[in-house]
Amino acid sequence: FPSSVKGSAPMSLVNDDFYIRRLYNRIQDCFGRPISSAPDAWFDVVVRYSNDNNKTLKRTDKVKRCLNLGSYNYLGFAAADEYCTPRAIESLQRFSASTCSPCVDGGTTTLHSELEECVAKFVGKPAALVTGMGYATNSAIIPVLIGKGGLIISDSLNHCSIINGARGSGATVCVFQHNTPSELEKVLREQIAGGQPRTHRPWKKIIVLVEGIYSMEGELCKLPEIVAICKKYKAYIYLDEAHSIGAVGKTGRGVCELLDVDTADVDVMMGTFTKSFGSCGGYIAGSKELIQYLKYACPAHLYGTSISPPAAQQIVCAIKVLLGEDGSNRGAQKLARIRENSNFFRSELQKMGFEVLGDNDSPVMPIMLYNPSKIPAFSRQCLKQNVAVVVVGFPATPLLLARARICISASHSREDLIRALKVISNVGDLVGIKYFPAEQKEH
Ligand code: PMP
Repeated sequence: FPSSVKGSAPMSLVNDDFYIRRLYNRIQDCFGRPISSAPDAWFDVVVRYSNDNNKTLKRTDKVKRCLNLGSYNYLGFAAADEYCTPRAIESLQRFSASTCSPCVDGGTTTLHSELEECVAKFVGKPAALVTGMGYATNSAIIPVLIGKGGLIISDSLNHCSIINGARGSGATVCVFQHNTPSELEKVLREQIAGGQPRTHRPWKKIIVLVEGIYSMEGELCKLPEIVAICKKYKAYIYLDEAHSIGAVGKTGRGVCELLDVDTADVDVMMGTFTKSFGSCGGYIAGSKELIQYLKYACPAHLYGTSISPPAAQQIVCAIKVLLGEDGSNRGAQKLARIRENSNFFRSELQKMGFEVLGDNDSPVMPIMLYNPSKIPAFSRQCLKQNVAVVVVGFPATPLLLARARICISASHSREDLIRALKVISNVGDLVGIKYFPAEQKEH
């Protein structure tokens, strides 16, 4: 695609109220509303059909059983699990659904302490703190780590929660070109020396913010190179592993394990439990001193209620399964399965002629649609054939870089994936989004 159209939407389109309203309605139309309690490989979706002839908008809803290619349930823990679910129910009975207290008051049960120890051990850091929400972990913790007089250097495609945290911190924020270490180094060099010989660094502190797997790109962070640059320029590194923890690495320990980076070289490790662990909440892991400081300096942690006990139990159990401490090898099987499924699905899509973003081993694989008018067509045609995908367009992406984002799970069977590939291939032909010659192969 010509690089001139990358970036923000042409203003004439953005300002065209009628165009935006219509596009918005079209995009709204194509989202299903999942009503299943368990986002497993198959789930129920309420599909909205609308007829907006002239000005009358008529909508009818129908429930469809669909193959789920959209949820972040990477390891399948969000469906009823033989080890996690009975224990989560037990903890609901024992501790109730909420502690009704912040951690520093009555909100730290034995389960909460066990969870923090478990997370620290799993991610490979001396200590961890757990919060009730992943989004708020970034937006509330980053402003406690850095403030006025500090410099944040943020990847240009970082998640909204990181951007909010950076903006709310009061630090100066610079952005470097997505996942490009040489551009990060350029910004650091410019900001530290500014081309002038200096006797001191002009910043109290510098933090570089990156993600393990970028959620709209499916790309792995170039962590080894970024860590080396941060060391060279004495900048701290903050790594958001929302999509990578549990999902990649031989034992599920995320991008450090996958890319052979020593966790001691990553100062702040952040992640969420809403993806691979099938629960909710977020964590920050780091040195004992850092975690102790954050526990008392972060207002959201001091004054916000601690994570719900059944959610905490679900995470502890999921980690135990991954570590094989449940007495089975289901964890290792899930990890092998997600890797095989992801690599199989990605390579088959590429063979069919789709442009697929991201790297091997990543369970996130965006198929490029480019033109936003293809969003509803792609989604509807997939739903018609009982496959639910998440389609993403402006403002989550630049207007002309619309995509369908497939998320692969360990709970998908090979038959599920082959079925999905057939449907996506048909829809790709219909919508006209196969940009490369397909390899001849029968599915
Ligand atoms: N960080 C990243 C990179 C994310 O993609 C998300 C949400 N998908 C979050 C943080 C927020 O996590 P949660 O949904 O658990 O609040």
